[in-house]
Amino acid sequence: MNTTLSLTESILFLKKLVLTQTSSYNYTGINVCLDIIKKEFMLFDAKATLIKSDSNNNNIPIALKLTKNAEADTKWLFNIHVDTVFDQQSSFNDFTINEDHTQATGPGVIDAKGGIVIIRNTIKLLESAPFSKDIGWTVLITTDEEIGSLESKSIIEREARRHDYAFVFEPPLDSGNLIKERPSSSNILFTAIGKAGHAGRDYKEAKNAITGLIALINTLPPLTSPTHTINLGTIQGGTRENIIAESASCSLNARFMIDSELKDFIKQCEEQATLIQEKTGIILSVDVQSFRPSKPSTPKSSHLYSMLDKAAKEANITLSYENSFGVCDGNFIAHQGTPVIDTMGAKGFGMHTKNETIYLDSLITQSQLAFGTIKHLYEHQQHAQ
Ligand SMILES: [Zn+2]
Repeated sequence: MNTTLSLTESILFLKKLVLTQTSSYNYTGINVCLDIIKKEFMLFDAKATLIKSDSNNNNIPIALKLTKNAEADTKWLFNIHVDTVFDQQSSFNDFTINEDHTQATGPGVIDAKGGIVIIRNTIKLLESAPFSKDIGWTVLITTDEEIGSLESKSIIEREARRHDYAFVFEPPLDSGNLIKERPSSSNILFTAIGKAGHAGRDYKEAKNAITGLIALINTLPPLTSPTHTINLGTIQGGTRENIIAESASCSLNARFMIDSELKDFIKQCEEQATLIQEKTGIILSVDVQSFRPSKPSTPKSSHLYSMLDKAAKEANITLSYENSFGVCDGNFIAHQGTPVIDTMGAKGFGMHTKNETIYLDSLITQSQLAFGTIKHLYEHQQHAQ
């Protein structure tokens, strides 16, 4: 097993992916990019399946699935997304390498096209390992992560159940630290419906929806604590100064490290909405628009992380971990009971900004870590038999 990975060739593959525009809504670009990825993985004799949206007939791709050795005893899932947060009109559409060739900037370089290159490199190492026939793998590239994984969620969950271990190739934190535990997260919409009227004539019988909405927002707990964070994302209501507002709404995101605390929070919002409605006559509703379960530490996941630590030690790489309020598709995988390390992607900084930058050498080092983890786990299983 002497496969060496080429950084030059990895950068070329990354450049090709980054220069293919893949905003979550750019289905043409996403299809082109998935095709590039599919061709790349055909080198490994993988079976490719393009999963399309079943909610319409618009030829919308939801995921590309590439599988090999599906009958093997140990099966690994490699998951990441191809869509980016940058829309088609964005001026951020170039791939620039810095002077000393250590960093590159471009849309999706770390979130998450670098991760796709790292998956390819990991499999390259795996396929040339002597134990490769004992390992089955599926690469699952989804297309809607940046808009909540609404359609890919069930596909990710299904694949998680079919596999023994998983990697998600989201980038580590800007500090280089990997994430262990993640919170549960929910997008929630507060809506208030009052009764419109003239600001001067109807002030007695009209009901201002904005006041009902504010009353509900005022019942929220402190917005941040060590165990939760609440973000008021958007707020709107009313039409003009001299009209009593008929409707108002606020969309927010709440993240709690413990699932049940998020559920309690939602329940409290609903109870407060009912109380305010009874008092004011303003109709208040609390709609849970998405719910992502938390990713707590388990004995199985701790074992997997210990294999990663072994791989890091062998490669002379220092690893540090942190918990984060960030969520990703790793939450869905963990919820199926499949141990998952979900920050195996490219290192860098500035994700979701026009300064998104990758440390290019991580295209190689992260692949070595992922492969090393698979190898140590395999060896551990052989010893145990
Ligand atoms: Zn992202």
